[in-house]
Amino acid sequence: MSTDTTRAPELTEEQELLQQTVRDYVRNHVAPHAAKYDEAESFPEIPWAKARELGLCAITIPEVHGGTAMGTVAASIVVEEVSRVCPSTAVTLSVHNSLVSSTIAKHANDAQRQRFLPNLASGEWLGAYCLSEAGAGTDASDQQTTAVRKGDRFVLNGAKLWITSGTHAGLFIVFARTSTAPDLAKRSRGVSCFIVERATKGVSIGKKEEKLGIRASPTTEVLLQDCEIPADNLIGELDKGFRIAMDALDVGRIGIASQALGIAQGCFDESLKYAKERRQFGRPIAEFQAIQWKLADMATGIDAARLLTRRAARMRDAGEPCAKEAAMAKLFASILANRTADEAVQIHGSAGYSREYLVERLFRDARITEIYEGTTEAQRMVIARALLG
Ligand SMILES: Cc1cc2nc3c(=O)[nH]c(=O)nc-3n(C[C@H](O)[C@H](O)[C@H](O)COP(=O)(O)OP(=O)(O)OC[C@H]3O[C@@H](n4cnc5c(N)ncnc54)[C@H](O)[C@@H]3O)c2cc1C
Repeated sequence: MSTDTTRAPELTEEQELLQQTVRDYVRNHVAPHAAKYDEAESFPEIPWAKARELGLCAITIPEVHGGTAMGTVAASIVVEEVSRVCPSTAVTLSVHNSLVSSTIAKHANDAQRQRFLPNLASGEWLGAYCLSEAGAGTDASDQQTTAVRKGDRFVLNGAKLWITSGTHAGLFIVFARTSTAPDLAKRSRGVSCFIVERATKGVSIGKKEEKLGIRASPTTEVLLQDCEIPADNLIGELDKGFRIAMDALDVGRIGIASQALGIAQGCFDESLKYAKERRQFGRPIAEFQAIQWKLADMATGIDAARLLTRRAARMRDAGEPCAKEAAMAKLFASILANRTADEAVQIHGSAGYSREYLVERLFRDARITEIYEGTTEAQRMVIARALLG
């Protein structure tokens, strides 16, 4: 019987073909380099260049703007497959495709889509999403970055923190406070959404974080100092950008659920292989019930996480509200990824504690999935809010 639990009957022919293409890409262009980039804490240049060539950064962009318009399920498949081996490359693709490109495709006007999407589709520009600040984490509405209208321009000032791909991004989606009216100043209603091109005067990259995991995904400060952008770079309505930030996070969370799912799948694959090879007491450790039960629990959790993630992705593609379902998928898959990575290290014994084995890196990389794009606690808040009405 097949142990490939990633097969799912509901994938279309096009999606299955994509899955196969991404598996080949991962085998040939990601796996050989992933440990090296992690060790050096450097951006995954070779995987990113090949991803561009294969059109993996065009998946959520309409064809008319140079994309392949394959949608959220397809983007989820890409992130899942890449995360089995390199969660750093996977989050680079996830932020680019989900948080950035699909948000511009959905919320920008025609002229803006025409200006920004072709460069994102080709990968000429890598996209970054700038919501977090020193004081705006889980409470993302407490934005201190400001955007002040000056004629036909906005002038932005502030510091964004923890920005994925900061060092390499060519385009930033930036959220900033545009209203200081007393009733709006401390609330989500006075926040607007802007596009800032990297080449704009006043944009600089601050401190790069040294991290526990996803070390090949550069996380930086993005500083905006008297940064003047055309007023045409305002996405959506003035003072109403926070709802765009939250809508972007719905689709972003499907991406992180996919990343967590891929990490769990990678841990399972490695554990199954190792359990059959490693012999103790004169037989493979896979023959011990203690190991078999771990494998059974891992596989069951992975199937459940995949069903939740694909459900949320399909709802997004159908244009249905999916905040609750995306949060459920991320909540479940991220906890599962950490538990599965922990069990994978245990099955590997001392080998699992060594950098020579993939599960060591996946164990470190799993941890972030419970933190970014809303912590585990934040997902529970979103779900509970939806349940309570
Ligand atoms: C590697 C990495 C990449 C990132 N990439 C990006 C990016 O590209 N763009 C971006 O904008 N941000 C990014 N972030 C930021 C990330 O999304 C935030 O760090 C995250 O939302 C948590 O915010 P915080 O760190 O300020 O935690 P805090 O909000 O300070 O939370 C601390 C703890 O308190 C809990 N908590 C807070 N409020 C409540 C509450 N009301 N009820 C219960 N518990 C609560 C939290 O769950 C958490 O456990 C990234 C972060 C990291 C580490």
